[in-house]
Amino acid sequence: MAASVFSKSLEFLKGVGPKKYALLEKELGLKTYGDLIQYYPFRHEDRSQYLQIGQITAQHSFVQLRGKVQKVEKVGPPKKQRLVAHFADDTGTVELVWFKGLAYAMGKLRLGVTYVVFGRPNVYGHRVNIAHPEIEPLSAAHDKPLFMQPVYSVTDALRRGYLDTKALAKIQQTLLKQVHQQIPETLSQALMQAHQLIDKKKAIVNIHFPRTPAHLNAARQRLKFEELFFTQLRLLRIKQERTDKYKSIALADTSLLTTFYQQHLPFELTGAQKRVIKEIHRDMRSGLQMNRLLQGDVGSGKTIVAFICMLQAVGSQAQAALMAPTEILAEQHFRGLLPFATAMGLQIVLLTGSTKTKQRRFILEGLAAGQIHIIVGTHALLEDRVQFNRLGLAVVDEQHRFGVAQRARLWQKNTDFYPHVLVMTATPIPRTLAMSLYGDLDLSVIDELPAGRKPIQTSHATDAQRLKVFEFMRQQIEQGRQIYIVYPLIEESEKLALKDLMDGYESVSRAFKGVPISIVHGRMKAEDKDFEMQRFIKAETKIMVATTVIEVGVNVPNASVMIIENAERFGLAQLHQLRGRVGRGAAQSYCILVSSNKPSQESRTRIETMVRTNNGFEIADVDLKLRGPGDLSGTQQSGVAELLVADLAKDAALLETARQAAKDLMQEDPRLEMEKNRNIAQHVASLSSTVVNWARIS
Ligand code: ADP
Ligand code: MG
Repeated sequence: MAASVFSKSLEFLKGVGPKKYALLEKELGLKTYGDLIQYYPFRHEDRSQYLQIGQITAQHSFVQLRGKVQKVEKVGPPKKQRLVAHFADDTGTVELVWFKGLAYAMGKLRLGVTYVVFGRPNVYGHRVNIAHPEIEPLSAAHDKPLFMQPVYSVTDALRRGYLDTKALAKIQQTLLKQVHQQIPETLSQALMQAHQLIDKKKAIVNIHFPRTPAHLNAARQRLKFEELFFTQLRLLRIKQERTDKYKSIALADTSLLTTFYQQHLPFELTGAQKRVIKEIHRDMRSGLQMNRLLQGDVGSGKTIVAFICMLQAVGSQAQAALMAPTEILAEQHFRGLLPFATAMGLQIVLLTGSTKTKQRRFILEGLAAGQIHIIVGTHALLEDRVQFNRLGLAVVDEQHRFGVAQRARLWQKNTDFYPHVLVMTATPIPRTLAMSLYGDLDLSVIDELPAGRKPIQTSHATDAQRLKVFEFMRQQIEQGRQIYIVYPLIEESEKLALKDLMDGYESVSRAFKGVPISIVHGRMKAEDKDFEMQRFIKAETKIMVATTVIEVGVNVPNASVMIIENAERFGLAQLHQLRGRVGRGAAQSYCILVSSNKPSQESRTRIETMVRTNNGFEIADVDLKLRGPGDLSGTQQSGVAELLVADLAKDAALLETARQAAKDLMQEDPRLEMEKNRNIAQHVASLSSTVVNWARIS
């Protein structure tokens, strides 16, 4: 909002004062008029109508009734006495119940007087009771129009400081009365008309104090649209600005590609792989800097796609880099690409924190001289001394482990032009989230697994069924397979996690005498971890007992069983990632989720989802619904978590609409110069002056 009345300090608002101001600031971060206005209630109590008692159902979370008290009685043994008032209208009776403050309630209740009652009904068949209702005699005060009571989230400290939700509502009302005429419109008439949105003033008043549920809905719809629209507009503008400003060069030579396709490609590419390769190559040829996100489920074959894109860069006399989040992963990528690169006569190297000095020197010199075509590594690649001769394509794997700033540092690795950037994520995210997190990137999706993959069979076992699980493991080991057993990392108590792991290791050792077993956890030294990992990769050990260190990317095709202990403690995304460690070889693979005998409802939903489907996108959707967007990885720095009214889990359709509207606007009026878009331009200007971090998102 403009630097006007809305930047005024709340301290000066009637009814606030220094003490309450300090509390509001400390507890809720509310400092200005504008802050408070945008502190929206999280729900409303519907007092917009009187319900008839006969109409109450279990669906009503709150009811407002009008009627008379017919009888008051104390019920139950002396120590556990409760007060019950039989309250009736023409259609039925409910019991109003007090467990505390009996004497006070009893003193207040009169027979024959008409009361207004508000509360949360408990419905048992035909009987309804309301515990500790609000009850007031019907009076002239009830003649004024009915409305919905806003409920604000407040802390205990606020309540103690006389700022409960009702007090907050009062302050809010004072403020709105004073300033609502000055709330600026942020959308154009055209947009409001096209999308049937109410104006901003009305929306703000009604999100706090709607008269009816319909008013509330109209307000929410308008504010959600606005929020999503401006988020998308910002992302599109970043993208536009980058396209205008950052020229890259066209990498168009396909000769290496042709050779690779004709002589070395070990399998037929899937349709989805071919499609995304085309999309990426089109970008690389365009002369504009590519910033593309490649999403694909675990095992969908992103690595070969990355390699094929690298060939296009190298064939066009440029270098390519692939950056992975851990040494193990970087090494695995390196080993995977080495045979291809060698067959193509290309020089490929690996650079990580543990690369020896002599090798490092060789690499740095070779890179600078342009003799090295492809470099694979960890964030060691970002160090200043790593200088390229002509970096053309940078691929970043498992993006969510890298910060946004690190992505930007890759660009600086070429001073002549900006290298093309391809970001790969192995954690599928729902489209709504992708659009919001990476809306400034172009999106490619591999939505198909290579043919002939046997879907992993997933099942659920409880602690009580452990012997059966062991029996199954024994059979698999006899058939020459290898097995992972994974324990959760418990952040609050690393000690406890380690104990779980050690106990598990011991019981497995006891049950599998003579079977070589590896153990890997976060407390081990990197080299010991690596040593154990290597033993397992070489099949010297048959069982790998580990914490989630193996989550990302590790590839051991012969490991065909994944057992996840305490499965109820893992989030869905993580369960899916872990399961993706198996199913990479020819054998049928299995995943067994072991949980306590009685997992919670939410854990059960997660486990059932895993058992039902192998589809990462479907799982991501369920995850988003269960957890909301704020908790998903990567959302913290992105501003997605800061959405006030819109909910990416529920507002997918509106997000699409808002994004399209933003796109249309960018097309028609890219610099927001038209008179009819003046509101929008002004709002964009005021947003960019308040939200400092926006530009960093890319
Ligand atoms: P992710 O997308 O999880 O990184 P990878 O690139 O590691 O997947 O690929 C998983 C496995 O599938 C690798 O062993 C790879 O060689 C193989 N693969 C990739 N594409 C195909 C394909 N089109 N047909 C058969 N196998 C493939
Ligand atoms: Mg991968």
